[in-house]
Amino acid sequence: MSHEAVELLSQYLQIDTTNPPGNETRGVEFFVDIFKKEGVDCKTYEASPGRSSIKAVIPGHGAKGAVILLNHIDVVPARSEEWSVDPFGGEVKDGFIYGRGALDMKGQGILELLAFLEIKRKELTPCRDLIFLAVADEEAGGTAGVRFLLDNYTEEFRADLVINEGGFGLYDMISNRPLVMIATAEKGVGRVKLTRKGPSGHGSLPHGNNALEKLVQGLNRLLEKDNPLFVTPLVEEYFKQLGCEWEFLKPYLGDGKPDTLVEVLEQNGMLSIPQISAMLKNTMSLNMMNAGDKINVIPSKAVAELDIRLLPGTDPNSIVDEIKSVLADENIEVEATKTTRASESPMDTEDFSIIKKAHLEHFPNALVVASLLFGASDSRFFREKGIPCYGVCPMLISQADLNRVHGIDERISEENMIKGTTIFKDIVKKLCSV
Ligand SMILES: [Zn+2]
Repeated sequence: MSHEAVELLSQYLQIDTTNPPGNETRGVEFFVDIFKKEGVDCKTYEASPGRSSIKAVIPGHGAKGAVILLNHIDVVPARSEEWSVDPFGGEVKDGFIYGRGALDMKGQGILELLAFLEIKRKELTPCRDLIFLAVADEEAGGTAGVRFLLDNYTEEFRADLVINEGGFGLYDMISNRPLVMIATAEKGVGRVKLTRKGPSGHGSLPHGNNALEKLVQGLNRLLEKDNPLFVTPLVEEYFKQLGCEWEFLKPYLGDGKPDTLVEVLEQNGMLSIPQISAMLKNTMSLNMMNAGDKINVIPSKAVAELDIRLLPGTDPNSIVDEIKSVLADENIEVEATKTTRASESPMDTEDFSIIKKAHLEHFPNALVVASLLFGASDSRFFREKGIPCYGVCPMLISQADLNRVHGIDERISEENMIKGTTIFKDIVKKLCSV
């Protein structure tokens, strides 16, 4: 008989909640069945047919504001022909549980569930309301998930703390000890569409105002420009903590100046590592282009789309003007199709210290640091309301396994699920003073 966490995760991974279309109601039914068996009341919320979220509450005695254990039910698509196992088979082999969502984030969803049920099973009374919340639509922007819940049921989701995805531990990132990250911030998003129009014509007679060529020239100016480096307080703290591991950071530990940090990172080639440079600057990636449909016709329109990620402190409303000035072509239309501001939670709260301390108790040898998430998560919606959110996932994985998130053969070890359950229970008990 395998561990409850492994069993439950394997079952949960067999429920296909690929978004789009989501079908999160299937995942909600999975939780409803469990809560029924455990005698826990729960409430479901349907944003549109098939798109549900679920909440269960253990009332506390109100010494503190509620804590929400947040997880998303939906997963990104998986191409089964690329996988060595069925992405929705929930297969357990060689000590790992395989499936789309194992790491992002059905595995953590199960840890949160078991930590929640622990309080109920032991009949403990938490010092604050404990809320389990599994939501739809995180992977496609949250409109049918957290956005829908906070817009329509604001009162039900008042809290002092949200525990969400975004944290994790890597055992092979620094030498001899694990690096465990608790996410306290995430970057903002700017999606920008560039459109250049121009006269069509025969490909044998170039007229010098080819929409595609003009767009490419503008894009070259944009991509050649290097974005300035910023050292935010979170990043300062991050590298201070890493200073004991990375010898070359010594000069920075000596004077604590952001300029010194940038200098030593540059000198040691660290800025060419995407995960390091993304912490220090707003990034831009040209991910889509479209123009022309015939080889001998000059296209009358060319479109490009940029994926921009913004550090805390950058105003997303300023990016269109900045891009226009670098493009230097007033015939290129620039439109932001989506913008969100970076979001941050304070590191000096009592709850953060409780979480950090608990990590250190279970991973005594680890370096535990606050970190910046490069992607976006549902945390931003709660941070907008002033509620602190921390990305917490007490597991130790390899960098290679982390790369399987949104990739091929996503998996989590049984050991991580088993140990993670113990740690998650402990963290929740400490946050609830029981
Ligand atoms: Zn996720």
